Amino acid sequence: MQLTNWHLSSLCHEDLTGKLLVMRKGIAVSPGVAVGTAYCVHEIFVNPDTKRLEDGEVTAELARYETARDQAGEDLRSMRKKVEAQVGQEEAAIFRVHETILRDSAFTKKVRGWIVNDRLTAPASLHELLREYTKLFERTKDEYLRERLNDVRDVILRISTHLTEVLKPGLTSLDGPVVDVVDELLPSQVVALGQLDVKGIVTQRGSQTSHAAIIARSRGIPAISGVRGILRQVKTGDTLILDGRAGHVIINGDAEQLSAYRKLEREFFHLKDQLAENRDQLAMTLDGVEVELLANINNLADAKSAGAMGAQGIGLYRTEYLYLAHPDVPDEEEQLKDYRQIIDASPEHQVTIRTLDIGGDKTIPYLGHTHQEANPFLGWRSIRLSFEHPEFFITQIRAILRSSVGKAGQVRLMCPMITTLEEMRRVRSMVRRAQRLLDAEGKEYGKVPVGMMLEVPAAAVSIDSMLEVVDFVSIGSNDLIQYLMAADRDNPKVSHLCQPLSPPVLKVLASVIQTCNEAKKSVTLCGEMAGMPSAFVLLLGMGLRSFSMSPAFIPSIKDLVSHLTIEQAELILKQAMGLRTHAHIRRFVRKRIAEIAPNLALLDTT
Ligand code: PEP
Ligand code: MG
Repeated sequence: MQLTNWHLSSLCHEDLTGKLLVMRKGIAVSPGVAVGTAYCVHEIFVNPDTKRLEDGEVTAELARYETARDQAGEDLRSMRKKVEAQVGQEEAAIFRVHETILRDSAFTKKVRGWIVNDRLTAPASLHELLREYTKLFERTKDEYLRERLNDVRDVILRISTHLTEVLKPGLTSLDGPVVDVVDELLPSQVVALGQLDVKGIVTQRGSQTSHAAIIARSRGIPAISGVRGILRQVKTGDTLILDGRAGHVIINGDAEQLSAYRKLEREFFHLKDQLAENRDQLAMTLDGVEVELLANINNLADAKSAGAMGAQGIGLYRTEYLYLAHPDVPDEEEQLKDYRQIIDASPEHQVTIRTLDIGGDKTIPYLGHTHQEANPFLGWRSIRLSFEHPEFFITQIRAILRSSVGKAGQVRLMCPMITTLEEMRRVRSMVRRAQRLLDAEGKEYGKVPVGMMLEVPAAAVSIDSMLEVVDFVSIGSNDLIQYLMAADRDNPKVSHLCQPLSPPVLKVLASVIQTCNEAKKSVTLCGEMAGMPSAFVLLLGMGLRSFSMSPAFIPSIKDLVSHLTIEQAELILKQAMGLRTHAHIRRFVRKRIAEIAPNLALLDTT
C-alpha cells in the first residue's frame, strides 16, 4: 500500500522526462485497482472521428451507414408493435416519433452529404448532425420542441450502436480487458457492455448509489464516478489506471506507474480470492451470533456470483433490469422463466423479488415514462407507476406467485418506495386479485410473503402502523438517505450530503430497526451501506441481523463479522452516536475497524 501513497503524492506533477502526468479525481464508488485500455462509450457525442475517407471508401461507408440506419428502423418497428399489443397505442407513441425522425429525408440527406462531399465517416457525420440539431433546438423557447432534441439524440445513439456493431472487426485492438469511460452508465447499456471484458468503470456523472456504481459493485469491478469532462480528455485506446478506493484515474501513466499499479491490482485480486475461501462458512460473530448475509442482484449472472461468494440467499432482485434489458415488454411467461432461473440458481435459499422500480434515473419508454419531470426522484416512479398500469402490475405479481410453486415461503414479493399504509393495502388487494385470477385459470402458485421497502421518510415515521400489513421490511437506505437529506443521490454537486454515517441517518435507522425487532417483524437492510465495513458495524450494534449487499462484498463482511462480538458493535455504536458529524463518526469507526480487522479498511468506501 505504501506504493500507492508514494505514487499519489507524485502524480499531479511532471515526471522525470518533463511529461505532464494527468490525474483526475472523482468519487470512489467501488474499491479496487484496474489497469486497462480505455473504451469510451458513445464517444461519438464528444470525440468526433477525425478520419477523412479516401475516394474508394465512400461507397462502403454509405452502405455501412444505411445498414445501421435500417437496423435501427427495424428495432423501432418491432418494439412499437409489441408495446402496442401488450401495453397500448399511447405508450407506443414514442417509438412512432423515433421512426418518423429516422425516416425524415433531411436527416438522411445531411448524413449522405457529409459522407459524400466532405469525406466524413458515418459516426463523424452523426456527430455533425447532432451538433446542428442542438444549435437549432437551443434557439427555440418552445419547451416541447426542446424536448424533441432528446428524441433526436436517442435515434442517433441507436444508429451509432448499430454502426459500432458493424464496425466490430475493426475493434480488435480492444480485445482484452477494457476500462469503460462513459457519461452515465444507463442500465439499458449494461447488457451491451456485458460483451466486453470490463475491468473498471469511470463515469462523468453519478455518485455512490447511482446505478453505474451499483452495477460495478455487484460485479466487483473497481469504479469512479463524477469525473467531470473525462470524455474530453480520454479517447478509446488510451491506457488508464483506475484507483477505486482513492477515487482517481491516471491517463497514459508512465511505465513505472503502470508496473506499480499492476502489482497493486494483483494484490487486490489476491485479497479477494483469499477472502472468498470463507464462502462455505456461516457468518457468525466471535460470541456466536449468526448474521444473515444476502445478495443484491440485477440478473442471472449476479445470482450465480452470489452463490460463489457464499450468499445465504437473494435479499433483493431488481427486476427492472429484466425490463430494461428486454427490447420490449417481457410477458408473463418470459418473466416466469427469468424468475425461475434466478430461484434455481439459489437452491434452498430465500429469493426476494422486487417489483418494477422504474423512474428516477431508470426509464422505459413503453410505460409512458418519456417526459422529463422536474423532480424525477420525487415524481412518477416505482410503485406509483405500477399502480398506474394495473394490468401490467398484475402480470408481474402473477409471474412472481407462479415462480414460487414448490418453494413455499422461500420466494418473497417486495414493493419499492411504499409511502403510505393505503399503498400497502392496495398491493395486498392486487395480490389477492392475482391469486383469484390464477385460481380461475387453474394455474398453480405457492405461498409468497409480501413486504415493503422502507425508502421514504414518511414510511419510517409511521413504520409501526405499517407493520400490520407487511410480512417483512427491507430498508432501502440508498433512497432513504437521499430523501432524508433532500439531496439527489446521482448529483455529484450534492452527493456529499448523502452520507450513510451522518447522525440523522443513523438515528432514523436505529429507530426503524428497533421498532421492527420489538414487533418481531423480519427486517433487512439492502442499501449499499450494508456492504461498507463502518456502516455494517453500526447496523449490527443497532440490532440488525440481516443484510443484503453486492455479492462482491459478502466475503469481506463475513470476515469482519468473525472478528467482532455483539458487545463490541454495541459499544462502537454508542460511542459513535455521541459524535456530532459524519466525518467524526467515520474516522472513529474506521479506526476501531483498523484495530479489529486491519486488512478490511482497504475495502471501505464510506
Ligand atoms: C435502495 O434504495 O436502497 C435500494 C436498495 O434500491 P435501489 O438502489 O435499487 O433504488
Ligand atoms: Mg431504492
